[in-house]
Amino acid sequence: MRDLHAVVTGGGSGIGAAIARALAAEGVRLTLMGRSLERLQALGLPGAACVAADVGDEASVQRAFAEAAAGHGPVGLLVNNAGQADSAPFNRTDLALWRRMLDVNLTGTFLCTQQVLPGMVERGFGRIVNVASTASLKGYAYVAAYCAAKHGVLGLTRALALEVAKKGVTVNAVCPGYTDTDIVERAVHEITAKTGRSAEQARAELAATNPQRRLVQPDEVAQAVLWLCRRESASVNGQSIAVDGGETA
Ligand code: NAP
Repeated sequence: MRDLHAVVTGGGSGIGAAIARALAAEGVRLTLMGRSLERLQALGLPGAACVAADVGDEASVQRAFAEAAAGHGPVGLLVNNAGQADSAPFNRTDLALWRRMLDVNLTGTFLCTQQVLPGMVERGFGRIVNVASTASLKGYAYVAAYCAAKHGVLGLTRALALEVAKKGVTVNAVCPGYTDTDIVERAVHEITAKTGRSAEQARAELAATNPQRRLVQPDEVAQAVLWLCRRESASVNGQSIAVDGGETA
């Protein structure tokens, strides 16, 4: 992996930061993307380029990938990790929330992939890993838009994997269960605000969806991503690897 340029979207926090650290330890040339440049820089990964980008905005994505390629060369690994998980009952899910969830989670994955796929196919090598979710594999109440977007990410993963199967490029997804990051902290905050339950109770409720009765750690997701990025994983294509303690078993 040493000779490869890897781009990680949403690399400034949570799962993306863990993936960035794991890839950096492998010696890849790294570009981190996210809306907040300060957040990416605060990670302090030596040699990592930090590029501001809103993955849901085509012009922003085009600019960011041009900057990334100018800095570190053609992209060999892309981890589409940037995402948001806003919740609302369906009857309070307005078009703005619906579009925001589809834009960042699904269209963002499409737009970033568009930027790197032709080069990967031309060079005969590439790894694309989409950070999907257990919400790609099953439904959850009060997150219809997020679930729809993440189901879409898995559909995109499977279709594209077949399309590029003979080109040396693999496209896979990891599907984390509730993972100990800001997204879960925001969910805990919402549950406490709406139900009056304590933060500990809310966290325990989320952890209880996992048969191991705990939140997944970002590093555990990162290790699954790393494995999918390896040259030796060439036969793993179009798969969704659940990192969820058995929730979707
Ligand atoms: P997080 O810490 O909130 O990370 C999300 C990252 O995405 C942030 O660094 C954020 O940075 C970036 N981001 C958000 N909107 C963006 C946009 N429009 N353009 C570019 N970057 C954007 O939460 P996380 O849990 O690590 O989430 C990472 C991924 O894992 C997401 O795709 C999420 O859906 C998925 N996931 C999380 C869980 C969980 O329980 N935590 C479970 C399953 C799947 P900026 O705000 O600076 O842009």
